[in-house]
Amino acid sequence: MELHLARRMELLGTETAFEVLARAKALERQGRHIVHLEVGEPDFDTPDNIKDAAIKALADGYTHYTPTAGLWEAREAVAAYVSRTRSFAVTPEEVVLTAGAKPVMFFAMLLLVEPGDEVVVPDPGYPIYESMARFAGGTVRPLVLREENDFRADPDEFRRLLTSKTKLVVLNSPHNPCGSVLTRGDLTAMAEALAGSKAWVLSDEIYGRILYEGEQISIASLPGMRERTIILDGFSKTYAMTGWRLGYGVMPAALADRMTQLATNATSCAAAFTQLAGAAGLSGSQESVERMVAEFRRRRDLIVRGLNAIEGVSCRTPQGAFYVFPNCKRVDADSGRFAAFLLNEMGVAVLSGTAFGASGAGYLRLSYANSTPNLEEGLRRIAAGVERHRAAAKV
Ligand code: PLP
Repeated sequence: MELHLARRMELLGTETAFEVLARAKALERQGRHIVHLEVGEPDFDTPDNIKDAAIKALADGYTHYTPTAGLWEAREAVAAYVSRTRSFAVTPEEVVLTAGAKPVMFFAMLLLVEPGDEVVVPDPGYPIYESMARFAGGTVRPLVLREENDFRADPDEFRRLLTSKTKLVVLNSPHNPCGSVLTRGDLTAMAEALAGSKAWVLSDEIYGRILYEGEQISIASLPGMRERTIILDGFSKTYAMTGWRLGYGVMPAALADRMTQLATNATSCAAAFTQLAGAAGLSGSQESVERMVAEFRRRRDLIVRGLNAIEGVSCRTPQGAFYVFPNCKRVDADSGRFAAFLLNEMGVAVLSGTAFGASGAGYLRLSYANSTPNLEEGLRRIAAGVERHRAAAKV
């Protein structure tokens, strides 16, 4: 059967992490040992109180459909949590639970973006923003994050990108892949620039709890921003629940209703017992989150030190998330080639910075959500690889 796909499929991108993971797994099947620094998920197990709540929910019969936007008690738990962590009051009507946080991105683009609209996305940035903006027919305007500005957006550049066609602006702090955190000053300047436009904001705050320095501020807490912001957050990173598929959006109730309509068409609802497990996570002890973040901080320091000790590599200290974004331009300006070399020849899986946009050229993204021995082995292999690669590529 010949594949005659809809034309829009030509616009859709993907997430390279899953492709590199598949390649790394194929090498493992051939007997190779691979250090995995490509995957963006905590290596910790989901906390016991969350698993127990899921088991109880299953025993109590939560095995059926729920209302699309979520069980009322789960929406209440999210609203209470967001109110606690964002310094403004949120109601359950403003919350839509989804199967993972990713659908909030997908739905926000489908709800708001039309052909001719412009969408501002961070570059480097999570690739699905651009993929979905294009899929919805939008034109992408990259907001370049520069190393010399600690990979934070420059508010003046941001202001210059806004036009009468800007429909949506995507912000992500703490940031994947750079680990950068927008300051109150950055966000205030951006909010001021947005005041004169008709643009909505998709504020991806999924790494908000994985913060080592600075302050986590939601742009929605700034004057005039609540009514034009969709907060994207979820359970995957904070509670090590990537496989459970639970996330949420918080937005004005009228928009939440329309997002719910999209979700009814797509997934009907998130799994019932998963919603109750997530709610238990939000309202229960946060000790396991604190322990995980303390461990990530130790690993961050280890990997930043290790990378900076390698000749030709320099790495800023990220303030949040669990990624580093080292500059490897002096080893090989072609970071795709260097990443492929590291996987195929040295057995260490990393992503090329270009997987996150054109401005990622010359950088790699490494996830340090991995054990200390694995990180140390990964660093040894990268150091040895730099020597070999430079000799082979004569760069
Ligand atoms: N937003 C960012 C910036 C991410 O890095 C990810 C996952 O890697 C997501 C959203 C999606 O999270 P989820 O697994 O809950 O769909």
